[in-house]
Amino acid sequence: MNTQDFVALEEKFGAHNYHPLDVVIERGEGVWVYDVDGKRYLDCLSAYSAVNQGHVHPKILKALIEQASKVTLTSRAFRNNQLPLLYKELSEITGYEMSLPMNSGAEAVETAIKLARKWAYRVKGVKRHDAEIIVVDGNFHGRTISIVSFSSEEFYKGDFGPFTPGFISVAYGDADAIADAITPNTAAVMIEPIQGEAGVIIPPDGYLQKVAKICRKNNVLFIADEIQTGLGRTGRLFACDYENVRPDMAIIGKALAGGFYPVSAVLADKDLLGLFSPGEHGSTFGGNPLGAAVARAALQVMVNEKLAERADELGTYFMEQLAEIPSPHVKDVRGKGLLIGVELKPEAKGARRFCEALQDRGILVKETHQHVIRFAPPLVIDKETIDGILPPIREVLNMV
Ligand SMILES: *Cc1c(COP(=O)(O)O)cnc(C)c1O
Repeated sequence: MNTQDFVALEEKFGAHNYHPLDVVIERGEGVWVYDVDGKRYLDCLSAYSAVNQGHVHPKILKALIEQASKVTLTSRAFRNNQLPLLYKELSEITGYEMSLPMNSGAEAVETAIKLARKWAYRVKGVKRHDAEIIVVDGNFHGRTISIVSFSSEEFYKGDFGPFTPGFISVAYGDADAIADAITPNTAAVMIEPIQGEAGVIIPPDGYLQKVAKICRKNNVLFIADEIQTGLGRTGRLFACDYENVRPDMAIIGKALAGGFYPVSAVLADKDLLGLFSPGEHGSTFGGNPLGAAVARAALQVMVNEKLAERADELGTYFMEQLAEIPSPHVKDVRGKGLLIGVELKPEAKGARRFCEALQDRGILVKETHQHVIRFAPPLVIDKETIDGILPPIREVLNMV
């Protein structure tokens, strides 16, 4: 079977909830993926930053195989010998006292919302069911009903109401707007330190500091969704580190298990995560020994291979090089570390055709929203590889 055969099968039997490029990947190794026709591509999306450690990293693969041959799922009705070690290592790496493991990012976001609400009722003293959470326009936190309830993207929510109440959305990047939206019922402010899905939107310098301060002053929790920005992607362990901000809760996922397995987590101190009591929240697969073993290995790779430092150094270089490309189409090049957005002018007629042209030249990227090309290769990329893709990128950014 060739590419067209697989595409035809997928179109016929699968729900059309994505609009993928027509590349059918069969195999991956490091920064490279290979399609069913034998063509090699540089992966510049990294599965939305889930494969920061590179495809099929041998150390993570080894942990997966070893653990899969022992035990994979115990449920949390019993304990297993991997989860406690993941807890401990996560705490040592991130500085948070505790964590709560889930599977997908959206589940971890839901977990953070539940915890913020419980904190509001049990600690802050908000009247039950009156808690409010402030979010920001352009947010992306996942796809559950509650999460799309506070999306500002009509397309994500249009046909999916009725919505979950209790959320207020204000402009991103405007700390005063958050201060103005706070009421005695406010439990938390939840933001992405950089909005990846919205098109790599970077808030003004000092924004995170200001928001953290406003939260502290008003006895409101500060929740950072670091599912995409965290674990080295932006050149620091967390994107919040750039402003020396330590959120009350940090949500991680994606690269936590190096793309081998869905593992997410909410990180917080004991005064918060200690509020959950048995039976109030859970997940059959959350914290399973296979996921925990894989996440432990993925974290170790992140630390040992200094992926945050690599992202910082190579991201700065890559972004400088991209910014120097003369192009009639480019409006802005921005990013932090290896999370880079190239925004095209509206006259360029959308980023999609540029992504397809890059695909023809062996580079896989995806448009975010209509006009932004996101460059986010695995953090194990090297300078020579970046240098190798600059000429085809230059060519594509100068297409008519
Ligand atoms: C991907 C993402 C999510 C959702 O994660 P899933 O694993 O797809 O549920 C939430 N927040 C941010 C910032 C993300 O990038």
